[in-house]
Amino acid sequence: MSLSSLERHALVTRRNPDGSTEGLRPDEVSRETWERIGHAAEPVLAVIRAKCLDCCGGSPSEVARCTAADCRLLPYRMGSNPLRERVALSDDERRRRSDRMRALHARS
Ligand code: SF4
Repeated sequence: MSLSSLERHALVTRRNPDGSTEGLRPDEVSRETWERIGHAAEPVLAVIRAKCLDCCGGSPSEVARCTAADCRLLPYRMGSNPLRERVALSDDERRRRSDRMRALHARS
């Protein structure tokens, strides 16, 4: 059964003695609780992409056209990292990585 917004909120919120509330630190919340409220482990770039879609009312074309130069997410809004250093691989290293990926896929 899915939780209401209020129930999800309560699982990640602390009520202080003075009645104020504050969010628990992420490491104070168990993995099970995160999953229970709908946060599965996923790549950070996918999370950023989802946030940008949320920011733009679910419109991929609006995300693509975003002009918010001061937003820290702007470079990553398409789900990739254009600032990542490109590493020039030798043929041997490329082959080794390719073999490793093939082995990983064969196991799954
Ligand atoms: S980069 Fe643009 S779409 Fe993404 S969160 Fe920032 S303002 Fe919103």
